[in-house]
Amino acid sequence: MRLSVHDIRDVGLALEFVEPAENFPVLAELQERRECRFPEPLQVALRIQPAGGLFEVSGRISTRIQVPCSRCLKPTLLTLDIPFELSYARELPEIDVEDDEEGREISAEEMGLILLQGDEIDLREAVQEQVVLAIPFHPLCTPGCRGLCPQCGADLNEETCRCAPTDFNLKFAALKDFKINK
Ligand SMILES: [Zn+2]
Ligand SMILES: [Zn+2]
Repeated sequence: MRLSVHDIRDVGLALEFVEPAENFPVLAELQERRECRFPEPLQVALRIQPAGGLFEVSGRISTRIQVPCSRCLKPTLLTLDIPFELSYARELPEIDVEDDEEGREISAEEMGLILLQGDEIDLREAVQEQVVLAIPFHPLCTPGCRGLCPQCGADLNEETCRCAPTDFNLKFAALKDFKINK
């Protein structure tokens, strides 16, 4: 999944591939740690276009992931559909130092550029990074998931436990009884 920029002609290059997550080291590691499972391969469609010394890559990654619900831990299947655009450069463009008040060097990342490694675009690296960024921090099995009881661990989606209500629940109950008189 490394592509030499010398193979990209002026008209650009379109690519489509289907690869299992196991072929992406970072995703394989997430799967091994059971943080995220990939029941389906990644479908990738992209286009690489040379543009004034840069190589613009735009495309879309689709797949499904299985992650634990952040409230009740139930395995939850989510569809990821990730549009992305990346720009690769052989070297950083020269920037007038006076533009930067502190006179420090601006990194490739700050310019939104990725530096080519030996004239190659590493699509494996690019694709796995996009997928990692798209995995939600707090996935939910359903938008209104009630989670687990913090005291007895009961799944509150399935049962009401007999634990004493917490302060939060007491406040909430009080609000429920509060009626507005018009
Ligand atoms: Zn849940
Ligand atoms: Zn409980």
